[in-house]
Amino acid sequence: MESGHGPFYIGVMTSTSADNDAANRLADVQADIDKTAGMAGRHAEAISLIAISKTHDADAIRPLLEAGQRHFGENRVQEAQEKWPALKADYPDVVLHLVGQLQSNKAADAVALFDFIHSVDRPSLVTGLVKAAQKLGREPVCFVQVNIGDEPQKGGCAIADVPELVAMVRKSPELSLAGLMCVPPANVEAAPYFALLAKLARENDVTGLSMGMSGDYETAIMLGATHVRVGTALFGSRDYSA
Ligand SMILES: *Cc1c(COP(=O)(O)O)cnc(C)c1O
Repeated sequence: MESGHGPFYIGVMTSTSADNDAANRLADVQADIDKTAGMAGRHAEAISLIAISKTHDADAIRPLLEAGQRHFGENRVQEAQEKWPALKADYPDVVLHLVGQLQSNKAADAVALFDFIHSVDRPSLVTGLVKAAQKLGREPVCFVQVNIGDEPQKGGCAIADVPELVAMVRKSPELSLAGLMCVPPANVEAAPYFALLAKLARENDVTGLSMGMSGDYETAIMLGATHVRVGTALFGSRDYSA
């Protein structure tokens, strides 16, 4: 496998061709997904590439939209509210994914803007999402986020709580259940965590697996990812000081 040598390591950007670079990076990542799917004996169409655009402004996002990318992810509701309504007006078929932790008091804002919520990790949030979905007449697609490495600082439910949360989402007609999501511990081999998430999905009879980021999406695809969340490999590095 070629993880560690993905297209994101190539890359001094020339400012004159920034738009071309974005389109090229998208093509590189998509080609990588196709190739990895082939190696895994899977159909590439079964894997959704979600472009994680957090911290990047509309000018950085537009070239990817123009290149045909439609699934985008953000980790903060407020940041997404500032950027996406205008972009959605130009590209109404955009599909938005919330991949960051969600406070229950933001559930209505999240349901209004996002099509997918990848961070469903506690019963009170399910209740909040149901209420918001009823009020807004929307049906958010949910991933139950699992704290797969049992890390105190991370979002996600405990492994032991997966069946309860899956059942809760499943029996809520206002929500649709896509599967499980995880962010494995940093700086260690991700494969065992991806394999564990895939096992939990089988045990709970769910098919969707939201796993894999710029550094490990090939590994995630080998282990069954259906949704990969890729930021840096598409947009370059993030500047949190801006
Ligand atoms: C930022 C983020 C990503 C994308 O990470 P990259 O390493 O930039 O690809 C994926 N998933 C979540 C939950 C994130 O917060």
